[in-house]
Amino acid sequence: MSDDTTAPRFRSDVTVDLVRSAAADSDVIWAARVSTAGEQSLEALQQDPEKSTGLINFLMRDRHGTPFEHNSMTFFISAPIFVFREFHRHRSGWSYNEESGRYRELEPVFYVPGEERRLVQQGRPGRYEFVEGTPEQHKTVTSSMEAAYREAYGRYQEMLEAGVAREVARAVLPVGLFSSMYATCNARSLMHFLSLRTKRENSAVPSFPQREIEMVAERMEEQWAALMPLTHAAFEKHGRVAP
Ligand SMILES: Cc1cc2nc3c(=O)[nH]c(=O)nc-3n(C[C@H](O)[C@H](O)[C@H](O)COP(=O)(O)OP(=O)(O)OC[C@H]3O[C@@H](n4cnc5c(N)ncnc54)[C@H](O)[C@@H]3O)c2cc1C
Repeated sequence: MSDDTTAPRFRSDVTVDLVRSAAADSDVIWAARVSTAGEQSLEALQQDPEKSTGLINFLMRDRHGTPFEHNSMTFFISAPIFVFREFHRHRSGWSYNEESGRYRELEPVFYVPGEERRLVQQGRPGRYEFVEGTPEQHKTVTSSMEAAYREAYGRYQEMLEAGVAREVARAVLPVGLFSSMYATCNARSLMHFLSLRTKRENSAVPSFPQREIEMVAERMEEQWAALMPLTHAAFEKHGRVAP
């Protein structure tokens, strides 16, 4: 029987936890009004919520972006490495720290698409549509991925047992391996990320992201929307374009 700690485990989901935040609609109002109302701006928000909604909508519509930067959200994310490769392309307004494959032995957790994941790509580059796979295709994906992951992780273990450094042995591990990271952003940088990494009918500029990064984006959006409902509603209303 295989050792539990080295037996590959397979996941079809991603995890996104908001671990720290200082983010509220009032931060946007405060920043926007400080030039005219000074320190009175927070009081004004509480006194006149309707006016605050109007101001946030105006800022979003006219793309006055900087008031949306005075807040912070830190997410702990577990997702496959291929998702992080896409994620780390987002440079502005983001800070990242990811687990190290040099300093610790990587856990054998691997991504296998779930039954709801559409498998077949149709259309032209940039505007692909995905349609359901057949049960046979799902079976092939699951069995091929699991076999490849088992082989790769076995070879990784073999090298570690032979005294090879983790940073050398990890070269055999595939991009379906799960990693974890802290990602910190503000509402403006998050909106830019969401505009590119979600596919929505109401987007003024449609995007066609890979489903797995979209799964991460959707969980981030839910948690952000709970913190900043007026800002989120304005983002939706104005075509999901970052200001
Ligand atoms: C559907 C999709 C498909 C993709 N396909 C590919 C692909 O095939 N190959 C590939 O390599 N990448 C691909 N990407 C990644 C894409 O090119 C961007 O790297 C990624 O979306 C991050 O966008 P960004 O640069 O706008 O974000 P950020 O890096 O967060 O930048 C935010 C904004 O800041 C400004 N900015 C940041 N840095 C600079 C700079 N150096 N100069 C000027 N302005 C700057 C820009 O206005 C930018 O929009 C794809 C992305 C998506 C969403």
